Amino acid sequence: MPAVLDHLHVLKKEKNPADTAEKARQKIASLDVCNVYAIIFGCILGIFALRYIVLQVQYFLLRRQQRARLAALPANEKKGSGASSIYSAKPALLRASDRIDALFSKPVGVWPVASMTWFRFLLLTAIISINIIACLVISVSTRGPVTVNANAARAFSRRCGRVAAANFPLLYSFAGRNSIIHILTGFPYQEIRYYHKVIGTICFLQCLVHTLAYTGYYVQVKGVESLHEEYTEAYFKWGIAAVVGGLVSCLVGLRAFRNRWYELFLISHIIGAVLMLAGSWYHRPIMVPWVYAAVAVWVFERAARLTLHVANRYQSRLVMHNPMLQAEASVCHGAIRLSVPFPSGTWEAGQHAYISFWGSDLLRRPHLYGQSHPFSVANVPDSSAASGDHHLQFVLRIHNGVTRELASIIDRKTAASKSTSCPITISVEGLHGRGPAADEFDNVLLVAGGSGITHVTSILSSVCMKADQGICAASNVKLVWAVHHLDQAQWIDSTLDDCRARADRAGLNLDVQIFVTRNDGEGSGRSTPTGSNTPSVSDELDEKKELPASSSTHIGRAAVHRGRPQVGEVTREFIAAASGRSCVVACGPEALAEEVRAVTNVLAAPTLEVQIAKFEC
Ligand SMILES: Cc1cc2nc3c(=O)[nH]c(=O)nc-3n(C[C@H](O)[C@H](O)[C@H](O)COP(=O)(O)OP(=O)(O)OC[C@H]3O[C@@H](n4cnc5c(N)ncnc54)[C@H](O)[C@@H]3O)c2cc1C
Repeated sequence: MPAVLDHLHVLKKEKNPADTAEKARQKIASLDVCNVYAIIFGCILGIFALRYIVLQVQYFLLRRQQRARLAALPANEKKGSGASSIYSAKPALLRASDRIDALFSKPVGVWPVASMTWFRFLLLTAIISINIIACLVISVSTRGPVTVNANAARAFSRRCGRVAAANFPLLYSFAGRNSIIHILTGFPYQEIRYYHKVIGTICFLQCLVHTLAYTGYYVQVKGVESLHEEYTEAYFKWGIAAVVGGLVSCLVGLRAFRNRWYELFLISHIIGAVLMLAGSWYHRPIMVPWVYAAVAVWVFERAARLTLHVANRYQSRLVMHNPMLQAEASVCHGAIRLSVPFPSGTWEAGQHAYISFWGSDLLRRPHLYGQSHPFSVANVPDSSAASGDHHLQFVLRIHNGVTRELASIIDRKTAASKSTSCPITISVEGLHGRGPAADEFDNVLLVAGGSGITHVTSILSSVCMKADQGICAASNVKLVWAVHHLDQAQWIDSTLDDCRARADRAGLNLDVQIFVTRNDGEGSGRSTPTGSNTPSVSDELDEKKELPASSSTHIGRAAVHRGRPQVGEVTREFIAAASGRSCVVACGPEALAEEVRAVTNVLAAPTLEVQIAKFEC
């Protein structure tokens, strides 16, 4: 009884003017700190945005100059060293920027951040230390009824909550493929995703510390009864909802969960994000402006995606008149080949689109119906094709979700119609992303694993097509592709044949190396006849299905090896042997992509352009 009275006494005291003044003082201090926090990050991002705008303007002017200089060159000098000298000449500002980029792309080289680039290390250090400082800079003096320690605990827990809220706009700005950060700074999507995860984790930890520290304060200073009393209040429950929202978002974002149940991850992540904002909104009015800001950037991201959707000439036509398309699909050795009519022919190498599948056959599995999945376009518009006769080519590796169901539908349909392909109903959203302008480099190395080949074949096609047209600096192109089974090379056989023919005509040195990593004596599925009369890569593949262990052979003019490629070594050797400027693009499984990244980070130089693409969202 005396204890309860004691607590009531403290509670009563809390309401006294001194305590109210202390609370107001802390509120103002937190507001100041959060404003400074937002200004600091605004400035950091502002610098990156300014840099990006200046560079874009410089590149725009440079491209104009380059086009004019190329046009003035005699036809026989527009490729190879002639074009190379034009593409390599850059104004001082761009040269300086290349040098700085190369410097910051180097790995730190010191444990435990040995493989981290200097850029990531410095930005990460800035984010973490600014957050720690913002949470810890509190006034421990007291003018209220509580002790200094209790006041400090309360101020610290409040501050953590406030700084967590101040992180909301930043966290949501780093989310999504069309994030405002990507648009303003040009940061690649994978880099943006990384900081989204970092800020998300920090934000959740701050919410957690806020909850635990406040709970501790109540238990220690005000008593369990008063904590129980608080619990009955709506603001408290909304606070818990916000923390649970953050926890759910973090947990489902873990790679193991995301890879296994992607659709569930997506839905839960969004629900968690909404819960976090709604919970904070109702938790404390002081959080409302930060919630507004976060909602604004989220709406911006969605609006940007919609705008992209509608702005695309082809897409707008689809949206207005015919959102559904009939694509031609066939199953080919563990993948689905999809040919989608795209009359305008306006896409670039290295782009991807979101495809949704709508056929009535899919209604048997309603959860798959209309799901939207990203896939890279495996080709570029064929300059020799008649206008309006362009097709986007996709290769969809068969996994366990919609792609598996689709494959069995296509199998059934083609078996019934005794044909090799059948129409399926889809809709396409995009196109997103971009590959590097590989044709402007003297040497191009393309490294792919499995279905990662789609991203690099569009780049390969672009280089070979431009070489064929006589407007390409590249003279040396190497493709290294790791596949499980030899017959998977048929996914892109016609593209490879086409590239080979163009490279031969243009005198481009094209070296294709295929590595077959599994030796289980079985192919990856039913072979699909190509219907072509001329011998192609696929014809020879059929003849050489069984590759003897530890051997090398040739198919078409591709060298085929048994075993895994040492992609790090290949990359190192390629760059060491290259003269002039080099471009390296890698796309495939995490290990392969990271091996290439590790080597290119060490060898980072102004003459080296690198793109590491991953099929991860
Ligand atoms: C930019 C980008 C380009 C891609 N290009 C290609 C390509 O050209 N060819 C290709 O075969 N694959 C590509 N992928 C991967 C492809 O999106 C997934 O393999 C596909 O969505 C799997 O569908 P599913 O339902 O059959 O997979 P599931 O069996 O459900 O899952 C298999 C794997 O795919 C991931 N996945 C599932 N749904 C999605 C989704 N909506 N978005 C992203 N990942 C998902 C899962 O996390 C899991 O790791 C690309 C991914 C990205 C992000």
